[in-house]
This record gives sequence, structure tokens and C-alpha cells, in this order.
Amino acid sequence: MAVLDDRLVSVFDEVVGRNQGETEFHQAVREVLESLGPVVAKHPDYADSEVIRRLCEPERQIIFRVPWVDDSGRAQLNRGFRVEFNSALGPFKGGLRFHPTVYLGIVKFLGFEQIFKNALTALPIGGAKGGSDFDPKGRSDAEVMRFCQSFMMELYRHLGEYTDVPAGDIGVGGREIGYLFGQYKRITNRYESGVFTGKGLTWGGSQVRTEATGYGLAFFVDEMLRAEGGSFEGKRVVVSGSGNVAIYAIEKVRQLGGLVIACSDSSGYVVDEDGIDLDLLKEIKTAQRGRVTDYAARRNRAVFSATGSIWDVPCDIALPCATQNELDESAALTLARNGCVIVAEGANMPSTPAAIRVFAESGVRFAPGKAANAGGVATSALEMQQNASRDSWTFEYTERRLAEIMRSIHDRCLHTADEYGNPGNYVAGANITGFTRVADAMLALGIV
Ligand code: GLU
Repeated sequence: MAVLDDRLVSVFDEVVGRNQGETEFHQAVREVLESLGPVVAKHPDYADSEVIRRLCEPERQIIFRVPWVDDSGRAQLNRGFRVEFNSALGPFKGGLRFHPTVYLGIVKFLGFEQIFKNALTALPIGGAKGGSDFDPKGRSDAEVMRFCQSFMMELYRHLGEYTDVPAGDIGVGGREIGYLFGQYKRITNRYESGVFTGKGLTWGGSQVRTEATGYGLAFFVDEMLRAEGGSFEGKRVVVSGSGNVAIYAIEKVRQLGGLVIACSDSSGYVVDEDGIDLDLLKEIKTAQRGRVTDYAARRNRAVFSATGSIWDVPCDIALPCATQNELDESAALTLARNGCVIVAEGANMPSTPAAIRVFAESGVRFAPGKAANAGGVATSALEMQQNASRDSWTFEYTERRLAEIMRSIHDRCLHTADEYGNPGNYVAGANITGFTRVADAMLALGIV
């Protein structure tokens, strides 16, 4: 582990003490604190004001029971969470994750990351995250609907366009947002479009929101390539995952000239040297909710592997778009050995701290999720703007705004990294930029 500035050691110890066993949360906090050494050295007022301690403690944490009835008439039980982490810059904003691995520590890590990511967009949104250990996989539409309605029966009282605005994440897409928003509307008797983002286009959604995280990731990598005088042209790209982020990252990388040769899901990974056939992948993963094995079965030259790692596939650019800690030290060593030059995170915290260290030591340029995948939440903020003005923008205009936001996040990260003596380090650039924006607002608002 990298050393922490003396002034930050007690902050980290306190976080571990207060949040025992929540290892992903500790990891996310430590990663940010490790970047803040030069900041507290230059501006001791941040350390003196204790703003960093306050920033590590969520403003509010909500845990609730979610009872629902399955198709066979049996009562089922899940646990729901919403961690409203920080509202210094705007209403709480962040997705909901429905996945069996969800517990308080995962929601806190995601909420914590969200604070800095949202600050990086320079749009007026605070940080939050929520979800449940409910597993939508294998459940009927009716079961998912009943679950969402029960979940909202408690969550609705904590939401509002000026209070807390959820969206999707793993396991929560357009279908779930629809059921959640429908129930909110029914309970409150208000068509409050601005209370959710990721809505359907006919009921208050924004163009490009579905594509935004993946497109934004590709735009960010394009900026990284341009910064060194390069482009996607002729680059071999490996994308882990095959959900919403992965699919639209693949689409935009292809439009920008790259060749995506592999993707994956929890069953394994598929390599297709001709380039992933996106229409087929979309049909299997979204329309049929199928697996990448089905993809391999329908493409001549595609090879499926149920064992080993997708990071064994030699590539120029790796885009982890599946889930946290999916890319470890040995995967990082393999990528570096095979000549990979850029790793950019589409998922939240997919690279372990040891993997990030390998990238730094072997000269692999690395973009952390809070910068590289900020396009999703940035477009959510654009959706909120459209809802507030009862307007809807064209696809072209919205995409142009997204591309501009990604460019400005990229440039700001490099600029800040330079300013704090760590040129080219996107981790330092992202953490310091996000931190100073939030901390300055918190100081201005007083001890609240
Ligand atoms: N879940 C997404 C993220 O990790 C989007 C959140 C949102 O749009 O509020 O940033």
C-alpha cells in the first residue's frame, strides 16, 4: 500500500473503525486519501478544517425491508439501501444497483466514488448510491415489477428533484426505472420527471442517456490517445462485461476506428477476431437476456472460454466495464507484458489497488472510473436540465454536450495532475479536482 500523508492517517483509521468489515468502502476512501498528500501540504486549511473527516461520513444512510410476493405466491424478502453521501454541490445523485452482492459497504463505496465523479462533471449534483441484494436474473417481469413497487414504497419519502435523484446501475435498466418511477408517481400523485434519470424517451428521458456511460468512456479514451498524438485507428480493444456500459463502449470505439475483439459476462469471455458483432450482441444480451456463450455459438470464428481471464487476450487498450475488483495484479501484469498501453475504467473501481500500482510502474496509462465513466451521470444531469425546463434536446446536440464534458474532465485531470506535481497521473488529477470542488463548497456552507 502507498503511504498516507501523516495528517490523513487518523482520518483513514477512523473510517475503518466506524465502518468495520466494509472493505470496498475502505479501499475507495484510501484510494482518494492517497492522492490528497500534496493537497493538504499545499493547503493545510483542508486538514485543519476537518472537512476530509466530514466528507468520509455519509450525510444519511437508509436501510429498509423490501417484502414482495413471487409468481408462486410465496413471500420473499430483500434489503434496500440508499446512502445519501454528500449534497454540497447539488441534490444527492447516483444510481441504484440490484445484485446479490449488494450490502452497505458496496453502496457506501459507490456513493463515495459518486461524490467525486459528480463533482468532476462540473454540473450541480451531489453524490449518493442505493440498491438491494435482490437478483433480477431469472425473475419474471411481474416479479421485478412487484419488487420495484415494494422498494419504492419506502424509498419514495427520501426522494425529490431537489433532494435525491436516483438512476440505474448494475441490474437496474429502463424496465426497472419505469416500475420505480411509476410507483413514485402513484404514491405521490405528482409527475415529477426530475426525480429519476434514465427514464424512457416518451416519459421524460433524455436522448443519449442509455448510451452515455459507454460513449463517454470511448470519448475519454479518444482524448487520452489524442493527448499523445494518437487515435483509435487500428487499435485492438478488449472490453470486459456485456451490459449497458460495455455495449455502448463497443459501439463508440468502433465508430472512432478501433477494433473490439473480446467481451464477457459471468459465464466467461468470447474472443472474436473479426470484431464483436454488435447487432448480435445486443440481440442476445438485451432482447433475449442471454449469455455470451450464445453469441459464440452463432458466430463462426468466435471462441468462448469459461475459464481463464479476458485480460489474457493481447490488446492495445483494455476497458474494464463489468464490476468492482475484476482486474487484479496478475491481470495487470499480463496486460502490461502483452503491450497494452491504456486501461480506462467503464465500471466503478474494477481495478484493484495492486493492479493500479502495476500500471503506474509499467507505464500503462490508466484512467479511473470516476473520470472515465462520468459520462453516464453527466448525461443524467443533462436529463435533469431538460426536465426542469420541460424541454427535450436532439440526439446530436446531447451527444455533443457529452463529448464536451468528457473532454473537459480529461483536460482538467491532466491540468490538476500537473499542478500538483504528478504529470500524466489521471488518478491524482481526478481525485484532487473532485475533492477540491466538494471541499470548497463544504467549507463555504459551514459545518452542516
Ligand atoms: N450508476 C451510474 C454511475 O455509476 C449513473 C448514476 C446516475 O446517472 O445517477 O455513475
